[in-house]
Amino acid sequence: MSSEETPEEDSQGISSKRRHHRNRRVNAMEYWQKGIMDESPIKERWSREFKNPRLKHIVPPAEQDPNQKQADGLVVEVHRRTCEVRMDGEDLTSVTARYRATVIDELGEFPAVGDRVTLGRASDDAEYMLLKVHPRRSALTRPGPKDRINQQLTQAANVDQVVIVASVAQPPFNYGFADRFLLAAAFSNLPLIMVLNKMDLVDALPPEAEDFLSLVDRCIPISAESGEGVDELREILAHKVSVFSGQSGVGKSTLINRLVPSALLRTGDVRVKDGKGRHTTTSASLFDLPGGGMVIDTPGIRALGILDLEPIDLARCFPGFFPDGNFTCRFNDCTHQEEPGCAVLAALEEGRLPLARYDSYLRILSSGN
Ligand code: GDP
Ligand code: ZN
Repeated sequence: MSSEETPEEDSQGISSKRRHHRNRRVNAMEYWQKGIMDESPIKERWSREFKNPRLKHIVPPAEQDPNQKQADGLVVEVHRRTCEVRMDGEDLTSVTARYRATVIDELGEFPAVGDRVTLGRASDDAEYMLLKVHPRRSALTRPGPKDRINQQLTQAANVDQVVIVASVAQPPFNYGFADRFLLAAAFSNLPLIMVLNKMDLVDALPPEAEDFLSLVDRCIPISAESGEGVDELREILAHKVSVFSGQSGVGKSTLINRLVPSALLRTGDVRVKDGKGRHTTTSASLFDLPGGGMVIDTPGIRALGILDLEPIDLARCFPGFFPDGNFTCRFNDCTHQEEPGCAVLAALEEGRLPLARYDSYLRILSSGN
């Protein structure tokens, strides 16, 4: 039904039209039989009720319908009730769009940075509503209760690779954090690149970091401060969408500022006071790489530190336990603690598995998250 054909009418006109309608309603059967019945009485009745101040105020659908003007875009930031979207074909400015409860219900969670979405609004100066989240080609997610709505599970959408930024000193290499990231990337079927920052502070790779060399897809030692190794990283990031995460203090902001000069992220000891490029948000944010490709910066440890894996899933997919992907313990539900015929304990005893990896597994297993 459309209310666009609002007939101009004065008080005189209304009463004469009303009489006209009544006649037409009475004669409806006759009209229908003659085959000349159309929808116009219904349309006119709608506009009459809308114009009558004694009736409940009804906003005509055309004025409130956010489907009126639709456009697609890319989510660059996510908040509790809104998200920032860069519209296709627009420059780098983004618009704020409010979530529609039905869209969030349908998706089962909030949209994520990197999501392709359709926005709509009722008119050129009405606010944007999020109408649709397009299917994701990939996502960095953390396992969690899928039935819980409004709990953000997807950290970034439509990504090609995960980059974990770790430091080799100040703070020292964090084994558990690296493992949690490895798990998250494995769970999401995404390649993992490990960046070892602050190499200017050490003479050689710390031995703990070496345990990961065979587990990650690439390992790149760099110094975000001096710029050493950053070119190699640039090549790996070119024309791809990469999610960056890292424990606070490892130099992730320093690195992103070097890769994306316009990012202006606040670093450990520099405070940008002008408010222009300040990103104090707890949400992930998306940046364009100068040569093509994108970087999604996530608020690290909070986003992915929590893994909701069942012990048996952890036992099956812990990185490095079953290098060729086959679960070879005697018992299907083996958690590699004291079960007989455990392939992991055997590998540990024979020195094929570093003790640090096994310890890291036990820590994550017992932390229960
Ligand atoms: P974030 O919390 O991971 O974003 O870390 P920041 O980028 O804020 O850096 C934390 C501190 O580490 C700052 O004082 C940086 O100056 C310092 N830092 C960052 N990268 C390097 C590096 O490559 N070498 C050294 N020596 N210090 C660094
Ligand atoms: Zn086992």
